[in-house]
Amino acid sequence: MPSPTRSAAVTRSRRAAGKILPEHARAHNRALVLQSLFSAGAMSRADLARETGLTRVTISDLVGSLMEDGYVVEQGVREASGPGKPAMLVDIARDGHRIVGLDLSGSESLVGAVLTLDGEIVARHSVPVPARQSEVLDAIVALARTVVADAHAPVLGLGVGTPGVVDDRGVVLAAPGFGWADLDLAGTLERDLGLPVLVANDANAAVLAEHTFGGAGDDVILVRVGRGVGAGLLTGGEPLAGARFAAGEIGHVTVGTDGGPACACGKIGCLEAWLAVPALTERIAATGDPDSVLRDAGERLGIALAPIVGALDLSEIALSGPADLLGGALAEAAAETVRTRTLATFHDGLQVRMSTHSEDIVLRGAAVMVLSGRLGVS
Ligand SMILES: [Zn+2]
Repeated sequence: MPSPTRSAAVTRSRRAAGKILPEHARAHNRALVLQSLFSAGAMSRADLARETGLTRVTISDLVGSLMEDGYVVEQGVREASGPGKPAMLVDIARDGHRIVGLDLSGSESLVGAVLTLDGEIVARHSVPVPARQSEVLDAIVALARTVVADAHAPVLGLGVGTPGVVDDRGVVLAAPGFGWADLDLAGTLERDLGLPVLVANDANAAVLAEHTFGGAGDDVILVRVGRGVGAGLLTGGEPLAGARFAAGEIGHVTVGTDGGPACACGKIGCLEAWLAVPALTERIAATGDPDSVLRDAGERLGIALAPIVGALDLSEIALSGPADLLGGALAEAAAETVRTRTLATFHDGLQVRMSTHSEDIVLRGAAVMVLSGRLGVS
């Protein structure tokens, strides 16, 4: 169920939308109606008029056209709570369309899923990551075709969360793990599938899922820890891209001045060299002291995050990755370190918590990208 916090966030972003050009007003109003239904669930046309500030006539017209397009359905009448005719409820047609999501961030598999407009996964496919980099793109296209064919409803769009730095047109500027540079992944998939395609870095997709489906606030960093370390950032409820689309690439920030482990990038003491899953498991095996290894890594994470929290006034840090490594001593040490290194008045209550999603966070984030890009809903 939607929380009051989400509704407040919706109201805020609605007000922030500001002046709209006339030719965009209708699309904007359609998005308002869909956003209200997405956040609050089924309601009457009169409720929608109140919620959006649009007139009853405009709402009836918009609901009619959204029903024609298959995005909204009538759900029957609400039991009358007073005199007068009982109201017909309308809702998002949660089964009218499907979304296809791909998660390319796994070290062993490429994963695809069919999702409802609510972000529920209804079908899942995966293929092993090809050993040869030259075969990765073909495997992704084939996987996308398989998942789309399994949708059994019109597909609203394809969302993709991929490792690497991705620009706002879905071009992967750099993904060393796949050997990609300036690869037009969105264009390639769009041409092949004939569907709208949205591509983002996997951590940036994940933070969208945490915001839309995980109850995260509007100012949050989500740190993904796997074979590497990356982060997605939202400020004021909006994704932060940065000057070169590389915001959140914190894995190769050097932590501390006392040396540290060598990193694959050639530097010493990168956050990734302390915190990535292989680094943690190797040090735990070598020392036999998981608690001190995890506390140490958590402290390093806190040192890296404190200036980010302070500069952007973030209210939440979410971690996504193996809970047995990240969820206990590591998260506690990170939270303590951030609190001692930032202004107590503002950040004393800051928590570091595990993401509310498990391994599906990137797939659900990919669905949010499609909802947002195609329907203006988030
Ligand atoms: Zn590095």
